[in-house]
Amino acid sequence: MPAYVPGRTVPGAIKLASNETPYPPLPHVVSRITEAAAEINRYPDNFATELTSVLAAKLGVDVEQVRVGCGSVSLCTQLVQALVDADEEVMYAWRSFEAYPIISAVSGASAIQVPLREHVHDLAAMAEQVSGKTKLIFVCNPNNPTGTAVSRDALVRFLRAVPPDVVVALDEAYREFVTDPDVPDGMTLLPDFPNLIVLRTFSKAYGLAGLRVGYAVAADPALTAALRQTQVPFAVTSVAQAAALASLEPAAERELLARVADIAQERERVFGALVGFGYPVPPTQANFVWLPLGDATADWAAACEARRVIVRGFAGSGARVTIGSAQENDRFLAAAAELAP
Ligand code: PMP
Repeated sequence: MPAYVPGRTVPGAIKLASNETPYPPLPHVVSRITEAAAEINRYPDNFATELTSVLAAKLGVDVEQVRVGCGSVSLCTQLVQALVDADEEVMYAWRSFEAYPIISAVSGASAIQVPLREHVHDLAAMAEQVSGKTKLIFVCNPNNPTGTAVSRDALVRFLRAVPPDVVVALDEAYREFVTDPDVPDGMTLLPDFPNLIVLRTFSKAYGLAGLRVGYAVAADPALTAALRQTQVPFAVTSVAQAAALASLEPAAERELLARVADIAQERERVFGALVGFGYPVPPTQANFVWLPLGDATADWAAACEARRVIVRGFAGSGARVTIGSAQENDRFLAAAAELAP
C-alpha cells in the first residue's frame, strides 16, 4: 500500500511543496485561537454547530446539507467508508490527489484510475468506465497536482451521464484560487444533481492547514448524514472550529480573499515566466504550477533543493510547485531559469 508523502520541510530552504499559503495567520484569528485554547480541557462541539450554521448561511443551504470535517481529506475518507464496500469501486482521474489511492486501498475498494488527457480530467472516459460496481467518483477541480480545471459545460455533461445512484465528490480544495469564469462553482450545481457532494477546506485559501478543518455540502442530506456516521468522534477540535469561525467574519474573510487574489496574480506571473523559459506548463487555476518533466523530474527537484527551494516531485511524472510570496517565487524562478529544458 502506498503511504501519503507530505511535502518536505528543510531548515533554511523555501518550502513550495505543500500548497500552503505563504502568509502568516491573521492576528484576529490567532487571538480567537488563543481564547479557544483556554477551554481545551473540554471536548469540542462534536457537531460543530455554530460553524455549520455560519457556513450554511454563507452558502445559502440548509444546515443539514453541510458537514464539517477534520480537513477535507478526512471527509474524502468518510465518504469512501460510507459508500463503498470491499467488492465495489471508487473512480478518480490519475494523476490526481495522492490521498485517493490510499483511502481506496484502506477501505478495500477497487480503484479505477482514468488517465488525464493532456493533464486535464477526461470526463468522457470516466463516464464511460462507470460500472454497476462504481459507487463513488472523485473529481478534483482544479486538479492536484496539475492545476488544470474542467469547464461548467464539461462537468454538467459528465454529471448528466453518471447514473443517479453513483455519488460524485467534487473536490474543490483550491476553488478560491479560480479566476476563469468558465470553471463552475460546485455549489451552483447542487440543486440539479442530488448525487453531488462538494468538498472544501480552510487549509489553503484560509491559511489553516495546521488546524485541520474542511467541509462538505450536498443537496441530499442523506449524504451529509452518512458523513456524520463515519466521523471519528470529536475529530474537529474546538480550536479549529474557533479559527474557522474567526476566518469567516466579514473583515477577516475579505482580507484572506484579497491575499488569495494576490496569489492568483503571482500564479500568472510564475506561469508566464516558466512558459518563457520553455517549460510545457499546463494552464493552472490553483495555487500551484505543474511541470511535466517525466523522467527528468527527480533530478530537477533535487537541483531545486540544492538551490534551497523545496518543490514536490513525483518521480517519473512531474513536479508541482506552490505559489509562494513574490520573493519566494523569484527565488524559485531563478532556479527554474538555470534548470530550464
Ligand atoms: N483535496 C485536495 C485536492 C488536496 O490537494 C488537499 C490537500 N493537499 C486536500 C483535499 C486535503 O486538504 P485538507 O485535508 O487539508 O482540508
